[in-house]
Amino acid sequence: MRQDWESVIGLEIHAQLLTQSKMFCSTPNAFGAEPNSLISPVCTGQPGTLPVINAFAMELGVRAAIALNCEIHEQSLFARKHYYYPDLPKNYQISQYDKPFCNNGKVTIQLKSGEKEIRVHRIHFEEDAGKSVHASHGTLVNLNRAGVPLVEIVSEPDMRTAEEAGQYLRTVHNILRFARVCDGNMEQGNFRCDANISVRKLGAPEFGTKVELKNINSFKFVEKAIEYEIDRQIEMILDGKKVTQQTRSWNNAKGITELLREKEV
Ligand code: ADP
Ligand code: MG
Repeated sequence: MRQDWESVIGLEIHAQLLTQSKMFCSTPNAFGAEPNSLISPVCTGQPGTLPVINAFAMELGVRAAIALNCEIHEQSLFARKHYYYPDLPKNYQISQYDKPFCNNGKVTIQLKSGEKEIRVHRIHFEEDAGKSVHASHGTLVNLNRAGVPLVEIVSEPDMRTAEEAGQYLRTVHNILRFARVCDGNMEQGNFRCDANISVRKLGAPEFGTKVELKNINSFKFVEKAIEYEIDRQIEMILDGKKVTQQTRSWNNAKGITELLREKEV
């Protein structure tokens, strides 16, 4: 029976920091400029260049950490996350891995049924990638966004419904805008989220296999996408199939989630 199942949801939010310049160079952090006009040897990954950290980006990160009730560490480490895409000219992204700058936050959300606390596992700094634009004659790359400063806010898997996930996202959005950490503009991609979803039998001690929904940039879509995904997973299990670890995307025109890639376990 469907009612015997519950869903488990954790969100990873990417918020663009309201700085004048990029994370590791003095190139302006601005939206809407001529393609490839906001670039430098550092953010285009030229050999021999050295990243220099943006102090105000650090300050905004710490402000986000305070606003989300996190423990801030005196030391943290940056790491290279390697992947090979045309929109990532260095072939690695500078991010934080095992030593993020803060952990253990919490956010109180308002629900129809009352209040609930959602724990923030960590917040770390990272830089954005460029943008690939798929045109009829080929793929174009715009590196204006490469190196733009972001924080990634990773929740614990504390949400149980699409409503809770939607409210958590709205609450974090409000807090970051109020603290002037991020302008929250979702159409421009300055505030976006990946939703991790699994289902399990009510009362089961362990979590099920999670599916990650990538880059959702609207409150309404996040709730719709999660609802759809919960139903899809429960139906699969009731059909005797196994949920596999996948990355999927929300197709709003069709109202469904679609496979992007299968993850290795
Ligand atoms: P990964 O290493 O695959 O990125 P993480 O453990 O870092 O996974 O978790 C990423 C996000 O997924 C976090 O927001 C976390 O709360 C959430 N998450 C982890 N396990 C599950 C699960 N079984 N179901 C739903 N969400 C999960
Ligand atoms: Mg992750």
